[in-house]
Amino acid sequence: MSERPRIDLYSDTQTRPSRAMRDAMANAEVGDEQRNEDPTVRTLCAMVAELLGKDAALFLPSGTMCNEIAYRTHTQPGDEIILHETSHALHFEGGGPAALSGVMLRTLPGERGMFTAGQVRGAIRDHGPHFQRSRLVSVENTTNLGGGAVWSVDDLDEIAGVAHEHGLSTHMDGARLMNAVVASGVPASAFARDWDSVWIDMSKGLGAPVGGVLAGSHAFIAEALRHKHQFGGAMRQAGIIAAAGVYALKHNVERLAEDHDNARRFARLIAPIDGIGIDPDAVETNMIYFDVAGTGLTAPQVSERLLEHGVRIGPMDEHQMRAVTHLDVDSRSVEDAARALRTVAGQG
Ligand SMILES: *Cc1c(COP(=O)(O)O)cnc(C)c1O
Repeated sequence: MSERPRIDLYSDTQTRPSRAMRDAMANAEVGDEQRNEDPTVRTLCAMVAELLGKDAALFLPSGTMCNEIAYRTHTQPGDEIILHETSHALHFEGGGPAALSGVMLRTLPGERGMFTAGQVRGAIRDHGPHFQRSRLVSVENTTNLGGGAVWSVDDLDEIAGVAHEHGLSTHMDGARLMNAVVASGVPASAFARDWDSVWIDMSKGLGAPVGGVLAGSHAFIAEALRHKHQFGGAMRQAGIIAAAGVYALKHNVERLAEDHDNARRFARLIAPIDGIGIDPDAVETNMIYFDVAGTGLTAPQVSERLLEHGVRIGPMDEHQMRAVTHLDVDSRSVEDAARALRTVAGQG
């Protein structure tokens, strides 16, 4: 499809930088980022380190690179990472953990992309030459395939406690951590407190065109910096793109509440449609997963027909679809999208 859909609920990655964000980018002070001489990158990293309560942070081209460099930094080849069976790093990073870090992944099941400290305890392997070394626990907050769910700080603290007690490190994929913060009122630093590395994505709901920022201790960041060079993530006048992140942290965080309101609005509007399966109470942030099996159409068919109405919502499998709200869709748009879905479902 070449033309842009009128209402794009495919992902919160579909935002376009606003005029004001572009102005901030155009006017950014820049320097050689590889030499740590870019003032705007330094500002962004300082902002994120402070936000997350960490010593330091690294600006990277993508969230995927934040995960992959963190994994590389925490592990040695042959180690094992414990993570949820729906994790982004398991499904959507091209096999990166195996290819780039030579690690094994131990997956845990659990509702809404979450698992318990007891499950982690049970998954940690005994020491001894027969066993790969359990080395890292990795969580997503919010959970992506888990439906945009927000972890409780108590659960996170308990899991990190078990990990640290057994000598494992802890990593938080915070692609949408600021959605969790705005939805729960819990500060980012409270979520991040017991997590050795944490990152946030600038190019999801925050609306910047590119970039992620990975934070941790001085020692972690020093080692991660080596891997940033190895992986080709060191840049030059990157202040041009970091400026979008600085702008986003100043202007686009609190407004995530509007995305969450719009997500709930969409869920409530589509819940009464015959054949649509959804629990509106499960919508905690900006993602709406719903089932279309009852319409007699498959999710790819519904997706294709919605496009004819100018609405893009992605199929996740045969019957599940995922809509994501973001700063380029307003309440009118989600009402229009819900109306289009009703029409596609044959009810109006
Ligand atoms: C999008 C996403 C990533 C990867 O971020 P990119 O910036 O797209 O590379 C990692 N984890 C989660 C949970 C995500 O949603």
